[in-house]
Amino acid sequence: MLSVSHVGRRFPGGTEALRDTSLRLAESDFVALLGPSGCGKSTLLRLIAGLDQPDDGRLEWDGEAPAPGDIGYVFQDATLLPWASAEDNVFLPLRLRGLSRAAATPEVASALARVGLGGFEHARPRELSGGMRMRVSIARALVTRPRLLLMDEPFAALDEFTRHRLQADLLAVWRDAGCTVVFVTHSIYEAAFLARRILLMTSRPGRIDREIDSTLTPGPETRLDPAYAALVAEIGRGLEAALQ
Ligand code: ADP
Repeated sequence: MLSVSHVGRRFPGGTEALRDTSLRLAESDFVALLGPSGCGKSTLLRLIAGLDQPDDGRLEWDGEAPAPGDIGYVFQDATLLPWASAEDNVFLPLRLRGLSRAAATPEVASALARVGLGGFEHARPRELSGGMRMRVSIARALVTRPRLLLMDEPFAALDEFTRHRLQADLLAVWRDAGCTVVFVTHSIYEAAFLARRILLMTSRPGRIDREIDSTLTPGPETRLDPAYAALVAEIGRGLEAALQ
């Protein structure tokens, strides 16, 4: 789907966020970008989204470059319009593309149902828990049926129980939607649970140091599975080596 080759990014203040960073994404991948805070994960995600341009290297899409709506973006903060209902928040990207409310209603309802929020269409953000607000944010990203879903530490601010539920539900959404997910996290446990491919980054200037592939099929028992513990340990060792 995408090949990122030898990308570098220096900010005007002099911070070199990325140097010689390369990765490839395939259709239907679930990739975790794992590294410590400040290593350039969000910078890389913004480059993939086309929100920023590299100073060195290049990004090449197989076939057509993504159109608006082909990429969904979810941030750590749900970034919802506080005065608008869940339904109106999810409708927003379709409204910006010129769809009428009537035409968009089935898509909006289906996106909310996919994230387990059927029945909450009219709730305002302040009436929803942190986890539910994040679900609205994911529904808003899914409503355009993106080929690529970019997620920047989306569950980092949630409590552990909510995070675990959202991780399991995200996997169900991913399998159902068939899109590619790039998931930024600084949690080894989260990367091990979610991702098929875990890309380990060095500290700043960040670059992808190594890849660990998972053979787990995540489910309700995965966190108790010795294979999961072994994967967590392997990632931990890999990250230590990447950070040296
Ligand atoms: P991460 O997501 O891994 O925590 P970031 O990609 O957000 O890291 O940031 C990498 C480095 O680049 C940090 O030192 C950060 O302060 C710096 N940085 C990020 N965005 C900008 C910007 N727009 N201008 C200047 N420096 C930036």
